[in-house]
Amino acid sequence: MKKLLSFILVFAISSGISGCGGFGDPTISVEQDVITNVSSETMSEDTSSQEEEEAGPIFDFNSWELRLVNPWNSIPEDFELQLATITSPYAGFAGASFDARAIEPLHALCADAKAAGINLTIISAYRTNEFQTNNFERKVNNVMAADPSLTREEAEAKAATVVARPGTSEHQVGLAVDFNSVEDSFKNTKEYAWLVENCTKYGFILRYTEEKQDITGIIPEPWHYRYVGVEAAKIMKEENLCLEEFIEKYNVTAADDTSSEAVQ
Ligand SMILES: [Zn+2]
Repeated sequence: MKKLLSFILVFAISSGISGCGGFGDPTISVEQDVITNVSSETMSEDTSSQEEEEAGPIFDFNSWELRLVNPWNSIPEDFELQLATITSPYAGFAGASFDARAIEPLHALCADAKAAGINLTIISAYRTNEFQTNNFERKVNNVMAADPSLTREEAEAKAATVVARPGTSEHQVGLAVDFNSVEDSFKNTKEYAWLVENCTKYGFILRYTEEKQDITGIIPEPWHYRYVGVEAAKIMKEENLCLEEFIEKYNVTAADDTSSEAVQ
């Protein structure tokens, strides 16, 4: 089909049917032939990627590991926490806990990092609503102290780009951890480089980047990693999608199926 199209177009050009002038000059025909081939290649690539998408993986966005929690999506009241204690060599504080269903990959990530000479300490993991409320209040007070001209509402909005409002933090569902340091300089460490390179193998993603800040609503946080499962994490990394973009792209079934719980 491609050859036939090329042939017809080249024939049309070289016989002057195209009317674009310059026929008789062999260079024009060669260039046109190249362009024709390129465009038909592109067309066939587009078609195959569409086919791949249709037959691609299906994700359940109501499942525990893919639950979207962000400034616009609070934790549902019926969300069931399943927590387990993080092993002491990796937990930076007593009683640090994480989702029991993902604690093995978290421990494996920390152990493999250690074996590679990378020291990771978890400085924040699961947080209660009370903890997050105190955290948020402290941030709002700091923002207001730094700029007394702000109203409470304005200060809250500014604080929320740094500390999630209570009920909208991934830490509250036990699926996020902060490693080593909540300083921007963490981005310059070998620990950060190792995490970015390897975290998807264990089902984790770097959740908040500068590039996606407009979509996530949260400032870049090189220390914050979220568990989503290996398959989803790999696709997000390969396609450079944040969780919001990934859900928008792969949530085809929920949107098409009106009986789905996702519609509620
Ligand atoms: Zn965090």
